[in-house]
Parts: sequence; structure tokens; C-alpha cells
Amino acid sequence: MNSGRTPAVVIGVRSYGESDKIVTFYSLSRGRLSGIAKGAHRSLKRFVNKLELFSHLEILYTESRSSSLVRIDQAELLTPFPLIRADYNRYAAASLAAELIFHWTRENDPDERIFELLLWTLASLENIKQPPAWTAILFNIKLLTLLGYKPALEGCTECATLAPRNGPYRFSPTRNGLLCRRCAETNNNADPEGGAGLAFSLSTARLLQKAQELPLAKLDRLRFSPAATKEALTILKIYGNSLLQREITSWDFIER
Ligand SMILES: [Zn+2]
Repeated sequence: MNSGRTPAVVIGVRSYGESDKIVTFYSLSRGRLSGIAKGAHRSLKRFVNKLELFSHLEILYTESRSSSLVRIDQAELLTPFPLIRADYNRYAAASLAAELIFHWTRENDPDERIFELLLWTLASLENIKQPPAWTAILFNIKLLTLLGYKPALEGCTECATLAPRNGPYRFSPTRNGLLCRRCAETNNNADPEGGAGLAFSLSTARLLQKAQELPLAKLDRLRFSPAATKEALTILKIYGNSLLQREITSWDFIER
């Protein structure tokens, strides 16, 4: 049977039987990957304090012939991120990132940029470079961009204008972007069920647009006011849930 080795982050862990654990990772070379760690609950040196939620590890695994679940043979701790697990708001933001990556990715479909984004998110939460809610916003906007669902914030998705006199602007999840006042009204008259979108200020749209453009290392330059934080989180939650066609439960624990 084939064995392999890859850097990986724990995005889910649960007990299995009396002494085993089933662990879900987002890994660099395999994408989403689930494995069974036998004897993980006994104080086996190879796993003790390693298979914790959000730990960044190097794992050794063996493929199974009969199932997609691999056997975790060994884990080496690269970065433990202990402070995330000790603080409610950091934990909530990391849980949101883990849950979104779980639902947006598949097994055997690696994306180095998503792995890098996850590590940036965890490091940012661990070191408190910015409030956890800002990290949650930046993670979401970068993830959507990597997945090909970058919201269109350059102007109205109907008439391309971007000017305060055409406002207030709204964000339409079904159109993946902004609508000016006039187009939102037309849209609403044509399709009342589809709705005219959500209130969205141009200043928050500009902030999110900057976040789309900046590299990860420069994202800590951005500053979100309490109003912009609330608005961005609301829009990203509704837009993301609409794309995934499911409710992501971790959103309920994010501080606005
Ligand atoms: Zn318009």
C-alpha cells in the first residue's frame, strides 16, 4: 500500500471507538484528507498533543485499499497555535475558516494557495495582528477569490457605474456583486423574490476590493470600522451561504 507525507492542518477531529481518532486535514499535497489515528487516545508518543484542532503538522500516512480514509502513522508538530484554542473569538474565527474549507474543497484536489491562506489565517489569529473579526473578513474575501467567486465590487454589475450619486448601492448575492440604486429598483420590480440585495456602503466595498488586491503579507494594513466590520461580515455570510446552498454554523459565533 502506498504511503505518503504532507504538511497539513487539522480542520476536524472526533473520537472513534475507545482509543482511536478520525481526523480531517486540509493538506498541502492532497487537499482535504481524512484519516484514522489508531491509539490516539492512549498516551502514544507519536500522537500526544498533536492531533488537536488547528495544529499545523507534517503527517505520515498510508493509503487504504478499501476506503478513502487513510491511516495516520505519524505526526510531527510544526506550529501548535495554542492561543487560538484558548480564546473564544479567535477560536470562532478559526472554526469558520475550517468549516468553510471543509465544504468548499474536495479530497485529492489540492490548492497550494488555499493551504497558504489557511496558515496565514491561523498565524494572524494566534498573533493578534488584527481583531479576529477582521481576519474572518479577509479570509472569506481571499477564499472566494481563489475559488473563482470573487464578488464584483468595481461598479454596478448592470450599468458599471460607481458614484455616490447613484447610491445607495446594494450587494446582490445572485449577481455576485454591486447594484446601483436604479438597477436595484429595476431588478426588484422584475424579480421581487430575487430581491434587490443587501445594503452595502461604497466605503466597505472599496475596503473589500483592496483586500482582494493586496497580497497576504500586506493585509494587516487594512482597517475596518465597527460599521464596516458588521456590514462586510453580513454580506460575506449571506453571499457564501447562497453559493454553498447551506448554512455554515460557525457564522453564528463570530463577534460583530
Ligand atoms: Zn446600475
